[in-house]
Amino acid sequence: MVKIKMKTPLVEMDGDEMTRILWKSIKEDLLEPFIELKTEYYDLGLKHRDETLDKVTIEAAEAIKKYGVGVKCATITANSDRVKEYNLKEMWKSPNGTIRAILDGTVFRSPILVNNIKPYVNNWEKPITIARHAYGDIYKDVEMKIEGKGKCELVFTDENGKETRELIHNFNGEGVVLGMHNLNSSIESFARSCFNYALDIKEDLWFSSKDTISKKYDHTFKDIFEDIYNKEYKEKFEKLGIEYFYTLIDDAVARVIKSNGGMIWACKNYDGDVMSDMIATAFGSLAMMTSVLVSPEGNYEYEAAHGTVQRHYYRYLKGGDTSTNSIATIFAWTGALRKRGELDENEELIIFANKLEKASIKVIEDGKMTKDLALITSYKNPLVLNSFQFIKEIRNELEKIL
Ligand code: NAP
Ligand code: MG
Repeated sequence: MVKIKMKTPLVEMDGDEMTRILWKSIKEDLLEPFIELKTEYYDLGLKHRDETLDKVTIEAAEAIKKYGVGVKCATITANSDRVKEYNLKEMWKSPNGTIRAILDGTVFRSPILVNNIKPYVNNWEKPITIARHAYGDIYKDVEMKIEGKGKCELVFTDENGKETRELIHNFNGEGVVLGMHNLNSSIESFARSCFNYALDIKEDLWFSSKDTISKKYDHTFKDIFEDIYNKEYKEKFEKLGIEYFYTLIDDAVARVIKSNGGMIWACKNYDGDVMSDMIATAFGSLAMMTSVLVSPEGNYEYEAAHGTVQRHYYRYLKGGDTSTNSIATIFAWTGALRKRGELDENEELIIFANKLEKASIKVIEDGKMTKDLALITSYKNPLVLNSFQFIKEIRNELEKIL
């Protein structure tokens, strides 16, 4: 069989623990036999990040800017336990945070649907993609406990020293206050990433906030989205027959539940944090969630939404059997390969990516799956496979349809 050739490399970012083990297996069994893989490899495994003083993460992000497409394995975010475990020189920042800051991107998370895992909301037929604004609001707030009587004000001092004041509250007793901010530039990037991604996957874009109560803060989000939509995207949306729809967050929640899915739901930072967990759980399993970071310039980084599955890795290290689901990691690869194919007009690569997804879904729908899915499937007596048998089954299926 002649292997598919790639024109331009994609950025490959290796990672940690169980997902690093799966990564190797996916490449060897599902990709390299069929594609002459052209990747620029960056090892974001914690050991190598430490050796390079985390420069490798920055280089990987720069490479995504250069090539436009990257695929990333899950990585450990260092904490004090990891500092000891890996004898780290520093408690390195989250690689995802670093890459997101460099690309100024927005993360889109979508579930992968199979016919024998039913969403808890039974009218959901298509995926619901959550886009979370990842800057500011309560995640960068300043808080104060008020001990007793007194007034609390918001004060803005401009660069010439001129003050603008707003009374928050005259306190008569104990209470709490918080100050938070956002930046128009960040909201604009968020909006553009969302509009671009909607055009990309040809789905409606919903955006929600609490503008009726928050007449300046949330209203600014609403206005920026509307303004950018009208000036830069309206025509393109109309041409594709998709729509941009703004509604109040309460109304959005009610409508999402009653919908059939198939839209992107853009959320402010906190709403996105909460709603993405709700959506992931309601669709069935974190192991079936994909995630893509899209920059306003149109750079793409694909990954699984889950972590490095540490508990399985320790079992694996002790020689125990694991049944770790590789679907989201496989779909990170297919997402990146398809995007590479689109950008390079490489039809063969696009077809391959689609077939690999089809084969993966077929295996599960035929009742062969990892343990996490076996626990929630409606399929009677599924065959539970270990991590590697599952990938081998997908290989068999893929060979049948190639
Ligand atoms: P996790 O890796 O997502 O795993 C949590 C649990 O969810 C697992 O123990 C497992 O449950 C289940 N699970 C997740 N993915 C699965 C899969 N593919 N197949 C089967 N079961 C799966 O989260 P964590 O254990 O809290 O975090 C581990 C490390 O990942 C941490 O160091 C964290 O910093 C990192 N992390 C990285 C990313 C990223 O790179 N994007 C995201 C999140 C977390 P059972 O054990 O019950 O089977
Ligand atoms: Mg959350």
